[in-house]
Amino acid sequence: MAGLYVHIPFCASRCIYCGFYSTTLLELRSRYVDALCREMSLQKTHPPIETIYLGGGTPSQLSHDDLLRLFTYIYKVYPVATDAEVTMECNPDDISPSMFRDLPVNRVSMGAQTFDENRLRLLHRRHTAEEVNRAFDILRADGIRNISLDLMFGFPNETMDDWQHDIEHALRLQPEHISAYGLMYEEGTPLYRMLEQGKVSEIDEELSISMYDTLIDRLSKAGYEHYEISNFAKLSVDDKVLHRPSSFRSRHNSSYWHDIPYIGLGAAAHSYDGHSRHWAVADLKQYITRIESGQLPYTEEPIDESTHYDDLITTALRTREGLDIDRLSPPYSSYLLAQAQPYLDKNMLAITGHHLHLTRQGILLSNTIMSDLMHV
Ligand code: SF4
Repeated sequence: MAGLYVHIPFCASRCIYCGFYSTTLLELRSRYVDALCREMSLQKTHPPIETIYLGGGTPSQLSHDDLLRLFTYIYKVYPVATDAEVTMECNPDDISPSMFRDLPVNRVSMGAQTFDENRLRLLHRRHTAEEVNRAFDILRADGIRNISLDLMFGFPNETMDDWQHDIEHALRLQPEHISAYGLMYEEGTPLYRMLEQGKVSEIDEELSISMYDTLIDRLSKAGYEHYEISNFAKLSVDDKVLHRPSSFRSRHNSSYWHDIPYIGLGAAAHSYDGHSRHWAVADLKQYITRIESGQLPYTEEPIDESTHYDDLITTALRTREGLDIDRLSPPYSSYLLAQAQPYLDKNMLAITGHHLHLTRQGILLSNTIMSDLMHV
Protein backbone atom coordinates (compact mmCIF):
# COMPACT_ATOMS: atom_id res chain seq x y z
CA MET A 1 0.00 0.00 0.00
CA ALA A 2 1.32 3.43 -0.90
CA GLY A 3 0.57 7.01 0.06
CA LEU A 4 -0.60 9.53 -2.51
CA TYR A 5 0.57 13.13 -2.14
CA VAL A 6 -1.06 15.81 -4.31
CA HIS A 7 0.67 19.17 -4.42
CA ILE A 8 -1.65 22.18 -4.77
CA PRO A 9 0.79 25.04 -5.35
CA PHE A 10 -1.56 28.01 -4.98
CA CYS A 11 -1.49 30.63 -2.24
CA ALA A 12 -3.59 33.79 -2.06
CA SER A 13 -0.42 35.58 -0.86
CA ARG A 14 3.07 34.47 0.19
CA CYS A 15 4.25 34.19 3.77
CA ILE A 16 7.71 35.68 4.26
CA TYR A 17 9.38 32.55 5.70
CA CYS A 18 8.08 30.03 3.19
CA GLY A 19 10.47 28.03 1.03
CA PHE A 20 7.84 25.72 -0.51
CA TYR A 21 7.01 25.92 -4.18
CA SER A 22 3.77 27.87 -4.59
CA THR A 23 2.40 30.64 -6.76
CA THR A 24 -0.29 33.31 -6.61
CA LEU A 25 -1.48 32.57 -10.20
CA LEU A 26 -4.92 31.58 -8.89
CA GLU A 27 -6.52 31.86 -12.34
CA LEU A 28 -4.79 28.58 -13.32
CA ARG A 29 -6.43 26.48 -10.58
CA SER A 30 -9.02 24.61 -12.71
CA ARG A 31 -6.55 24.01 -15.52
CA TYR A 32 -4.11 22.64 -12.96
CA VAL A 33 -6.70 20.19 -11.63
CA ASP A 34 -7.29 19.03 -15.23
CA ALA A 35 -3.52 18.50 -15.52
CA LEU A 36 -3.44 16.49 -12.26
CA CYS A 37 -6.16 14.18 -13.63
CA ARG A 38 -4.21 13.83 -16.87
CA GLU A 39 -1.02 13.06 -14.92
CA MET A 40 -2.86 10.23 -13.13
CA SER A 41 -4.03 8.76 -16.42
CA LEU A 42 -0.48 9.01 -17.87
CA GLN A 43 0.94 7.02 -14.92
CA LYS A 44 1.81 3.44 -15.92
CA THR A 45 0.83 1.82 -12.62
CA HIS A 46 -1.85 2.58 -10.04
CA PRO A 47 -0.96 0.75 -6.81
CA PRO A 48 -3.42 0.46 -3.92
CA ILE A 49 -3.54 3.66 -1.85
CA GLU A 50 -3.80 3.80 1.92
CA THR A 51 -3.42 7.52 2.54
CA ILE A 52 -4.12 10.64 0.49
CA TYR A 53 -2.59 13.99 1.40
CA LEU A 54 -3.44 17.27 -0.32
CA GLY A 55 -0.61 19.63 0.56
CA GLY A 56 0.65 22.92 -0.67
CA GLY A 57 0.59 25.72 -1.20
CA THR A 58 -2.97 25.97 0.00
CA PRO A 59 -5.33 23.16 -1.08
CA SER A 60 -8.22 25.03 0.56
CA GLN A 61 -7.82 27.65 -2.19
CA LEU A 62 -9.38 25.18 -4.67
CA SER A 63 -13.10 25.52 -5.32
CA HIS A 64 -15.45 22.80 -4.11
CA ASP A 65 -16.07 21.77 -7.75
CA ASP A 66 -12.34 21.40 -8.42
CA LEU A 67 -11.84 19.38 -5.21
CA LEU A 68 -14.77 17.11 -6.05
CA ARG A 69 -13.42 16.57 -9.57
CA LEU A 70 -9.95 15.80 -8.21
CA PHE A 71 -11.10 13.30 -5.56
CA THR A 72 -13.53 11.61 -7.97
CA TYR A 73 -10.66 11.05 -10.38
CA ILE A 74 -8.30 9.77 -7.68
CA TYR A 75 -10.90 7.21 -6.55
CA LYS A 76 -11.57 6.24 -10.17
CA VAL A 77 -7.91 5.63 -11.03
CA TYR A 78 -6.45 4.21 -7.78
CA PRO A 79 -7.83 1.43 -5.59
CA VAL A 80 -8.19 3.45 -2.36
CA ALA A 81 -8.55 1.57 0.95
CA THR A 82 -11.97 1.99 2.57
CA ASP A 83 -10.34 3.20 5.79
CA ALA A 84 -7.91 5.51 4.00
CA GLU A 85 -6.63 8.54 5.89
CA VAL A 86 -7.48 11.55 3.70
CA THR A 87 -5.81 14.77 4.83
CA MET A 88 -6.24 18.24 3.42
CA GLU A 89 -4.05 21.18 4.44
CA CYS A 90 -6.21 24.24 5.01
CA ASN A 91 -5.61 27.85 5.92
CA PRO A 92 -7.78 28.83 8.90
CA ASP A 93 -9.34 31.76 6.99
CA ASP A 94 -10.52 29.42 4.21
CA ILE A 95 -12.56 27.17 6.52
CA SER A 96 -16.31 27.50 5.96
CA PRO A 97 -19.30 25.39 7.00
CA SER A 98 -19.91 22.25 4.88
CA MET A 99 -16.79 22.83 2.77
CA PHE A 100 -16.07 19.07 2.82
CA ARG A 101 -19.56 17.92 1.80
CA ASP A 102 -19.32 14.97 -0.63
CA LEU A 103 -15.52 14.91 -0.20
CA PRO A 104 -13.69 11.99 1.49
CA VAL A 105 -11.57 14.31 3.72
CA ASN A 106 -11.37 12.92 7.28
CA ARG A 107 -8.32 14.81 8.57
CA VAL A 108 -7.49 18.53 8.38
CA SER A 109 -4.06 20.01 8.87
CA MET A 110 -4.09 23.69 9.70
CA GLY A 111 -1.21 26.15 9.95
CA ALA A 112 -1.88 28.31 13.02
CA GLN A 113 1.87 28.97 13.61
CA THR A 114 1.21 31.38 16.50
CA PHE A 115 -1.74 33.04 18.22
CA ASP A 116 0.03 36.38 18.59
CA GLU A 117 -1.33 38.95 16.10
CA ASN A 118 2.00 40.82 15.82
CA ARG A 119 3.89 37.66 14.96
CA LEU A 120 1.18 36.60 12.50
CA ARG A 121 1.53 39.96 10.75
CA LEU A 122 5.34 39.68 10.77
CA LEU A 123 5.03 36.35 8.95
CA HIS A 124 2.45 37.83 6.51
CA ARG A 125 -0.02 35.10 7.47
CA ARG A 126 -3.49 36.01 6.25
CA HIS A 127 -5.45 34.68 9.24
CA THR A 128 -6.00 35.97 12.76
CA ALA A 129 -5.84 33.98 16.00
CA GLU A 130 -9.63 34.30 16.30
CA GLU A 131 -10.05 32.70 12.87
CA VAL A 132 -8.21 29.60 14.10
CA ASN A 133 -10.68 29.30 17.02
CA ARG A 134 -13.58 29.76 14.61
CA ALA A 135 -12.14 27.20 12.17
CA PHE A 136 -12.02 24.60 14.95
CA ASP A 137 -15.70 25.24 15.81
CA ILE A 138 -16.73 24.86 12.17
CA LEU A 139 -14.65 21.72 11.60
CA ARG A 140 -15.96 20.05 14.76
CA ALA A 141 -19.56 20.96 13.83
CA ASP A 142 -18.91 19.41 10.41
CA GLY A 143 -17.77 16.15 12.02
CA ILE A 144 -13.99 16.39 11.47
CA ARG A 145 -12.57 14.34 14.34
CA ASN A 146 -8.91 14.50 13.40
CA ILE A 147 -7.33 17.96 13.27
CA SER A 148 -3.63 18.68 13.16
CA LEU A 149 -2.32 22.10 14.13
CA ASP A 150 1.04 23.55 13.04
CA LEU A 151 2.91 25.78 15.47
CA MET A 152 6.20 27.64 15.19
CA PHE A 153 8.61 28.87 17.82
CA GLY A 154 11.79 30.90 17.92
CA PHE A 155 10.43 34.15 16.42
CA PRO A 156 12.57 37.27 16.70
CA ASN A 157 12.23 38.67 20.25
CA GLU A 158 9.93 35.81 21.33
CA THR A 159 10.18 35.01 25.03
CA MET A 160 9.55 31.71 26.80
CA ASP A 161 6.37 33.27 28.19
CA ASP A 162 5.11 34.07 24.68
CA TRP A 163 5.76 30.50 23.60
CA GLN A 164 4.02 29.04 26.63
CA HIS A 165 0.96 31.17 25.83
CA ASP A 166 0.91 29.74 22.30
CA ILE A 167 1.19 26.17 23.60
CA GLU A 168 -1.64 26.70 26.10
CA HIS A 169 -3.86 28.29 23.43
CA ALA A 170 -3.24 25.31 21.14
CA LEU A 171 -4.07 22.86 23.94
CA ARG A 172 -7.37 24.61 24.69
CA LEU A 173 -8.43 23.82 21.13
CA GLN A 174 -7.76 20.10 21.77
CA PRO A 175 -6.28 19.15 18.38
CA GLU A 176 -5.64 15.44 17.88
CA HIS A 177 -2.22 16.20 16.45
CA ILE A 178 0.36 18.99 16.77
CA SER A 179 3.38 19.66 14.56
CA ALA A 180 5.85 22.24 15.86
CA TYR A 181 8.91 23.66 14.12
CA GLY A 182 11.53 26.23 14.97
CA LEU A 183 11.37 29.26 12.64
CA MET A 184 13.84 28.76 9.80
CA TYR A 185 15.57 31.46 7.81
CA GLU A 186 15.65 29.80 4.41
CA GLU A 187 17.83 31.35 1.74
CA GLY A 188 15.81 33.11 -0.94
CA THR A 189 12.90 33.98 1.34
CA PRO A 190 12.00 37.59 2.29
CA LEU A 191 12.63 36.65 5.93
CA TYR A 192 16.19 35.62 5.08
CA ARG A 193 16.75 39.00 3.39
CA MET A 194 15.40 40.76 6.49
CA LEU A 195 17.92 38.82 8.57
CA GLU A 196 20.76 39.82 6.24
CA GLN A 197 19.67 43.47 6.37
CA GLY A 198 19.61 43.37 10.17
CA LYS A 199 15.84 44.06 10.31
CA VAL A 200 15.26 40.94 12.41
CA SER A 201 17.60 38.78 14.45
CA GLU A 202 17.60 35.10 15.29
CA ILE A 203 16.81 34.16 18.86
CA ASP A 204 19.46 32.69 21.03
CA GLU A 205 20.08 29.00 20.28
CA GLU A 206 19.86 28.01 23.93
CA LEU A 207 16.46 29.69 24.25
CA SER A 208 15.28 27.89 21.11
CA ILE A 209 16.37 24.53 22.57
CA SER A 210 14.61 25.31 25.88
CA MET A 211 11.44 26.21 23.96
CA TYR A 212 11.53 22.83 22.26
CA ASP A 213 12.22 21.13 25.59
CA THR A 214 9.27 22.95 27.18
CA LEU A 215 7.05 21.88 24.29
CA ILE A 216 7.95 18.21 24.74
CA ASP A 217 7.31 18.34 28.50
CA ARG A 218 4.01 20.22 28.23
CA LEU A 219 2.54 18.12 25.42
CA SER A 220 3.60 14.86 27.09
CA LYS A 221 1.87 16.03 30.27
CA ALA A 222 -1.24 16.88 28.23
CA GLY A 223 -1.42 13.29 26.91
CA TYR A 224 0.28 13.56 23.54
CA GLU A 225 2.67 10.94 22.24
CA HIS A 226 5.91 12.47 20.94
CA TYR A 227 6.27 10.09 18.02
CA GLU A 228 8.55 12.07 15.71
CA ILE A 229 10.97 14.95 16.35
CA SER A 230 8.42 17.63 15.39
CA ASN A 231 5.17 15.69 15.75
CA PHE A 232 2.86 14.87 18.63
CA ALA A 233 -0.32 12.78 18.54
CA LYS A 234 -3.00 12.62 21.22
CA LEU A 235 -3.36 9.26 22.98
CA SER A 236 -7.00 8.19 23.08
CA VAL A 237 -8.40 6.33 26.09
CA ASP A 238 -8.20 3.07 24.10
CA ASP A 239 -4.59 3.80 23.08
CA LYS A 240 -3.70 4.21 26.76
CA VAL A 241 -5.57 1.09 27.91
CA LEU A 242 -4.06 -1.04 25.15
CA HIS A 243 -0.55 0.51 25.54
CA ARG A 244 -0.41 1.11 21.81
CA PRO A 245 0.86 4.05 19.74
CA SER A 246 -1.55 6.94 19.29
CA SER A 247 -4.28 6.31 16.70
CA PHE A 248 -3.86 9.95 15.67
CA ARG A 249 -0.33 9.63 14.33
CA SER A 250 -0.20 10.95 10.77
CA ARG A 251 -0.35 7.71 8.79
CA HIS A 252 0.66 9.52 5.61
CA ASN A 253 3.75 11.22 6.99
CA SER A 254 4.70 8.08 8.92
CA SER A 255 5.09 6.29 5.61
CA TYR A 256 7.83 8.79 4.63
CA TRP A 257 9.65 8.14 7.88
CA HIS A 258 9.31 4.36 7.56
CA ASP A 259 10.62 4.05 4.00
CA ILE A 260 7.27 3.12 2.43
CA PRO A 261 6.83 4.03 -1.27
CA TYR A 262 4.74 7.08 -2.11
CA ILE A 263 3.38 8.70 -5.22
CA GLY A 264 3.53 12.46 -5.70
CA LEU A 265 1.27 14.26 -8.16
CA GLY A 266 1.59 17.83 -9.36
CA ALA A 267 4.24 20.48 -9.87
CA ALA A 268 7.31 19.95 -7.63
CA ALA A 269 5.88 16.72 -6.15
CA HIS A 270 8.28 13.89 -5.30
CA SER A 271 7.69 10.14 -5.69
CA TYR A 272 9.58 7.15 -4.34
CA ASP A 273 9.16 3.50 -5.36
CA GLY A 274 11.70 1.89 -3.02
CA HIS A 275 14.54 1.94 -5.60
CA SER A 276 14.44 5.38 -7.21
CA ARG A 277 12.76 8.71 -6.80
CA HIS A 278 11.51 11.25 -9.26
CA TRP A 279 10.17 14.74 -8.99
CA ALA A 280 8.06 16.90 -11.29
CA VAL A 281 9.19 20.27 -12.59
CA ALA A 282 8.73 23.02 -9.98
CA ASP A 283 7.09 25.46 -12.37
CA LEU A 284 3.33 25.61 -12.68
CA LYS A 285 3.10 26.73 -16.31
CA GLN A 286 5.75 24.27 -17.50
CA TYR A 287 4.09 21.46 -15.56
CA ILE A 288 0.68 22.18 -17.14
CA THR A 289 2.04 22.59 -20.69
CA ARG A 290 4.09 19.41 -20.56
CA ILE A 291 1.28 17.33 -19.06
CA GLU A 292 -1.17 18.74 -21.65
CA SER A 293 1.19 17.56 -24.40
CA GLY A 294 1.16 14.05 -22.93
CA GLN A 295 4.60 14.09 -21.21
CA LEU A 296 5.37 13.32 -17.60
CA PRO A 297 7.69 16.20 -16.56
CA TYR A 298 9.85 14.17 -14.20
CA THR A 299 13.51 14.08 -13.29
CA GLU A 300 14.52 10.64 -12.03
CA GLU A 301 17.31 9.59 -9.69
CA PRO A 302 18.20 5.99 -8.79
CA ILE A 303 18.92 5.51 -5.09
CA ASP A 304 22.17 3.70 -4.33
CA GLU A 305 22.84 2.05 -0.99
CA SER A 306 24.75 4.99 0.44
CA THR A 307 21.93 7.45 -0.41
CA HIS A 308 19.37 5.03 0.98
CA TYR A 309 21.36 4.79 4.22
CA ASP A 310 21.52 8.60 4.53
CA ASP A 311 17.79 8.85 3.78
CA LEU A 312 17.08 6.42 6.63
CA ILE A 313 19.21 8.50 9.00
CA THR A 314 17.20 11.64 8.19
CA THR A 315 13.79 9.93 8.25
CA ALA A 316 13.59 6.77 10.41
CA LEU A 317 15.84 8.20 13.10
CA ARG A 318 13.37 11.06 13.53
CA THR A 319 10.77 8.63 14.84
CA ARG A 320 10.14 7.29 18.32
CA GLU A 321 10.81 3.73 17.09
CA GLY A 322 14.02 4.77 15.35
CA LEU A 323 15.98 2.99 12.65
CA ASP A 324 15.79 -0.77 12.21
CA ILE A 325 19.47 -1.76 12.11
CA ASP A 326 18.58 -5.18 10.66
CA ARG A 327 17.42 -3.50 7.47
CA LEU A 328 20.97 -2.40 6.70
CA SER A 329 23.59 -4.55 4.99
CA PRO A 330 26.54 -5.58 7.27
CA PRO A 331 28.96 -2.85 6.09
CA TYR A 332 26.34 -0.15 6.71
CA SER A 333 25.16 -1.48 10.06
CA SER A 334 28.80 -1.67 11.24
CA TYR A 335 29.42 1.87 10.01
CA LEU A 336 26.27 3.09 11.79
CA LEU A 337 27.15 1.43 15.10
CA ALA A 338 30.70 2.80 15.00
CA GLN A 339 29.45 6.34 14.34
CA ALA A 340 26.73 5.97 16.96
CA GLN A 341 29.02 4.71 19.73
CA PRO A 342 30.02 8.12 21.19
CA TYR A 343 26.33 9.07 21.41
CA LEU A 344 25.38 5.67 22.87
CA ASP A 345 28.05 6.28 25.53
CA LYS A 346 26.55 9.71 26.30
CA ASN A 347 23.01 8.30 26.45
CA MET A 348 21.92 10.43 23.51
CA LEU A 349 21.19 7.37 21.39
CA ALA A 350 19.91 3.99 22.59
CA ILE A 351 19.22 0.59 21.08
CA THR A 352 15.93 -1.17 21.85
CA GLY A 353 15.65 -4.58 20.23
CA HIS A 354 17.24 -3.94 16.84
CA HIS A 355 16.18 -0.30 16.60
CA LEU A 356 18.55 2.62 17.10
CA HIS A 357 16.70 5.67 18.40
CA LEU A 358 17.27 9.10 19.90
CA THR A 359 16.81 9.47 23.65
CA ARG A 360 15.05 12.42 25.31
CA GLN A 361 18.50 14.00 25.71
CA GLY A 362 19.59 13.19 22.16
CA ILE A 363 16.47 14.60 20.56
CA LEU A 364 17.55 18.11 21.56
CA LEU A 365 20.72 17.70 19.48
CA SER A 366 19.22 15.60 16.70
CA ASN A 367 20.65 17.66 13.81
CA THR A 368 24.23 17.27 15.01
CA ILE A 369 23.78 13.57 15.75
CA MET A 370 22.20 12.83 12.37
CA SER A 371 24.90 14.68 10.50
CA ASP A 372 27.56 12.64 12.36
CA LEU A 373 25.83 9.38 11.42
CA MET A 374 25.55 10.20 7.72
CA HIS A 375 27.64 8.36 5.19
CA VAL A 376 28.16 10.93 2.43
S1 SF4 B 1 3.41 28.95 4.38
FE1 SF4 B 1 1.69 27.94 3.35
S2 SF4 B 1 0.24 29.63 2.93
FE2 SF4 B 1 2.20 30.60 3.39
S3 SF4 B 1 3.19 30.88 1.37
FE3 SF4 B 1 3.90 28.91 2.19
S4 SF4 B 1 2.54 27.38 1.35
FE4 SF4 B 1 1.53 29.40 1.10
